[in-house]
Amino acid sequence: MATANIPTVPKTTYEDRLHRVQTALAERGVDWLLLGPSADLFYLTGFDAHVSERLNLLMVPRSGDPSLVVPLLEAPNVGAAGDLARVVSWADHESPMGSVASVVTGDTGRVAVGNHLYSAFLLRLQDTLGASAWIEAGPIMRDLRMAKDAVEIELLEIAGRANDVAWEAFLQAGPLSGLTERQALQRLVDLTLAEGVSSCWGICASGPNAAAPHYSTGDRVIQPGDSVIFDWGGPVGGYYSDVTRTVHVGEPDEEFRKVYEVVLEANQATLDAVRPGLACQELDRTARRVITDAGYGEAFIHRVGHGLGLEVHEEPYLVEGNDLPLAEGMVFSDEPGIYLEGRFGVRIEDAVVCTGEGGRRLNHSTRDLVVMG
Ligand code: ZN
Ligand code: ZN
Repeated sequence: MATANIPTVPKTTYEDRLHRVQTALAERGVDWLLLGPSADLFYLTGFDAHVSERLNLLMVPRSGDPSLVVPLLEAPNVGAAGDLARVVSWADHESPMGSVASVVTGDTGRVAVGNHLYSAFLLRLQDTLGASAWIEAGPIMRDLRMAKDAVEIELLEIAGRANDVAWEAFLQAGPLSGLTERQALQRLVDLTLAEGVSSCWGICASGPNAAAPHYSTGDRVIQPGDSVIFDWGGPVGGYYSDVTRTVHVGEPDEEFRKVYEVVLEANQATLDAVRPGLACQELDRTARRVITDAGYGEAFIHRVGHGLGLEVHEEPYLVEGNDLPLAEGMVFSDEPGIYLEGRFGVRIEDAVVCTGEGGRRLNHSTRDLVVMG
């Protein structure tokens, strides 16, 4: 895949995001937003800061220019974010809290702190700044990040395509029987990396291991009679794909075929239910109804989906109890599953974008039951 075809987020978009976050701070009566290295920081500035024991901190006041406190040795990595925020660097022999204090003049007021800032930094900031209140920045950032713009959706689509092309190649790449889970996953990861994702994570769970949704890939040898779940993805321009496909090694029995059909039906019913204004929990209920009606309700042991973007799991969560309405531009996974302990598991997962006309899948590799050697 040619990198020239990967769209970039224009500077005006970052300026707009910073402006919108300042509006949100004003609406909520918050004086400062503090973000460490995180998807939130990347979203607002494009700065992919390194998480370490050295403090990197974006400081956004309710009005006026933001500042970016960075270690001196990392200042060259700030890139275009240096045009969006005043860069304040600190050397290794200095305290970063001196730099932080130099940015704030007068009363600190109410401070919102990003969810991913180390607690050690937060404790030192609390000693340094003497704010009147400390609150979570998560809800503020969530409201900005949940609905994706056209460039973000394009990046998610390109990442999804990498999974799709890799999967079709994987199905042609030879039998699974005899490979360990780790070897099979490596084959899929290599094919996906070749399609342009900048890194690739994944799970391969075979046989009874497939009954654990977040199984950690091991050295079990895949053999005839196994169902094998592959759940994997990687980022393009920072935006992640997340896809699951389940195959069967050798001819499956009747029950496996039935379970596979039920999961496929739940996946399709969830997609069909997507529309702006619908509460997130309704998608979970839709999938659960299909699976429960087929007699497998107890075996669907997780929510039907999660938001997808700069993080593999982000808001909105499609789960019972979440009455947040879906909105155009939200991107989330549609991943019902059935897990029969000690026997097998089936999960089918695609990324879906909510449009004005309903749900649109970002993944198009086959969802039909595939029998492999
Ligand atoms: Zn997944
Ligand atoms: Zn997922």
